[in-house]
Amino acid sequence: MTEIAIIGAGLAGLNCALTLEGAGVDVTLIEAADAPGGRIRTDIVEGFRLDRGFQVMLTRYPEAERAFDYEALKLRPLRPGALVRHDERFHRFADPFREPLAAMRFALDNVIPLQDKLRVAKLRSYVMAGETADIFAHPENTTMKFLQEFGFSAAILERFFIPFFGGVFLERELGTSSRFFEFLFRMFASGQTAVPENGMEELPRQLAAQLKAGTLLTHAKVRRITRSNRQFAIETDTKGIIEAAILVLAVAEHDCIPLLSGLAAKSKFLPKPRKWNQTTTFYYAAESSPVDEPIIVLNGEGAQAGPINNLAVMSRVSSQYAPPGAELIAASVVEQAPDSDEGMALLEREVRDHAARWFGRTANNWRVIGGYPIQYALPFAKATQWQSGPVRPVEDGIYLCGDAQETPSINGALKSGRRVAEALLVRTGARTPRNRADFDASPSL
Ligand SMILES: Cc1cc2nc3c(=O)[nH]c(=O)nc-3n(C[C@H](O)[C@H](O)[C@H](O)COP(=O)(O)OP(=O)(O)OC[C@H]3O[C@@H](n4cnc5c(N)ncnc54)[C@H](O)[C@@H]3O)c2cc1C
Repeated sequence: MTEIAIIGAGLAGLNCALTLEGAGVDVTLIEAADAPGGRIRTDIVEGFRLDRGFQVMLTRYPEAERAFDYEALKLRPLRPGALVRHDERFHRFADPFREPLAAMRFALDNVIPLQDKLRVAKLRSYVMAGETADIFAHPENTTMKFLQEFGFSAAILERFFIPFFGGVFLERELGTSSRFFEFLFRMFASGQTAVPENGMEELPRQLAAQLKAGTLLTHAKVRRITRSNRQFAIETDTKGIIEAAILVLAVAEHDCIPLLSGLAAKSKFLPKPRKWNQTTTFYYAAESSPVDEPIIVLNGEGAQAGPINNLAVMSRVSSQYAPPGAELIAASVVEQAPDSDEGMALLEREVRDHAARWFGRTANNWRVIGGYPIQYALPFAKATQWQSGPVRPVEDGIYLCGDAQETPSINGALKSGRRVAEALLVRTGARTPRNRADFDASPSL
């Protein structure tokens, strides 16, 4: 019997297991897939590294700074700012604090009204003031309302904020919490946006490599969980029954609800199904790069101009993403994730036509080498819904863990894993709470 069983080896489950194991607790981490990583995996296809959906790491994430060895990850940064497609050409949206020369040219480009450029500087100082955690006490609204009330014009919303943060939130209405927006804006403004040299999967791999041999079981989908005599019996499809005293469910809500049903759990803390944001990334192999720098290219003309929301040449970010002499292009669509081959083929044609309007006929020679439709990409962090309170079990001995418990991000997943582990350390007596409100895990709370 194991002391604590954690189901799901995404970043949350991994960080939870590592924190517990580091304090000497006996843990078993059970994962359905062939490897850890959950939503952060990288496939190697014909020598190209295809992240399962375009995504990036923000180096200033407080939890990432704690969890990862950045040097070993060999992080490769994207260039700050973006290239915005508008009126049949690309405009550089430059960050004056990092690239003053490019910003001077940007100041003269009237794709974004001057008043908005000044407001971006004001927004920067607003979100940079005080401690990062203070942001989560700011008044909360939707991001769209927050930006409008900040005074931004429709032009900058359409040309920059909607495609940029729509690509981060995976929803273009910007209905996501303004607190989460402010947090991310601070992260983007103060650190690098990067990928590990060998693909995003290096993140979970680095955590998994620190676990003791035998802690992580892969290819072990949990089918059913029952409880008797304050002990859980976890039925897996390949590793038999694992018994545990405490259960951590580090799986997404749609995977969690059926597992909890076998336990007849009825607490008011049970997760409720929520809306998830969708995305699709198509990967293309090309002989030459349509953009000669590691920068995000944004659709600043709205969804009516075509389905691409953002595009990046991954081989310009890290040369390891493509074999020698080739380029790898990632084109992302938000709010769509077709569930059929026909739907994917149709969307791919629309994406390629859109790319051809941006880069000319050369896009017709790109070869599609991967397409990732992701229906459950990010739990929607709706304003006023996102409360990160004290960690509580949903029923005695059962804890939920994952980005849905914090914020939908690498930072949120890592934080949830750490906080659940710390609550369990208090519960098992392995650690006294530093801050009782934060760590108290007693079921009576
Ligand atoms: C396309 C995309 C782009 C993103 N972009 C960014 C970005 O740029 N920056 C950022 O910070 N974040 C981004 N994110 C979000 C980030 O990847 C997630 O927040 C984070 O990876 C979630 O980790 P998690 O551990 O909470 O959940 P998951 O990674 O979903 O882990 C859950 C695990 O549980 C396992 N599991 C489920 N059911 C069972 C079962 N019955 N038995 C055993 N195991 C089970 C699953 O296989 C999975 O491994 C993006 C996500 C996606 C999908």
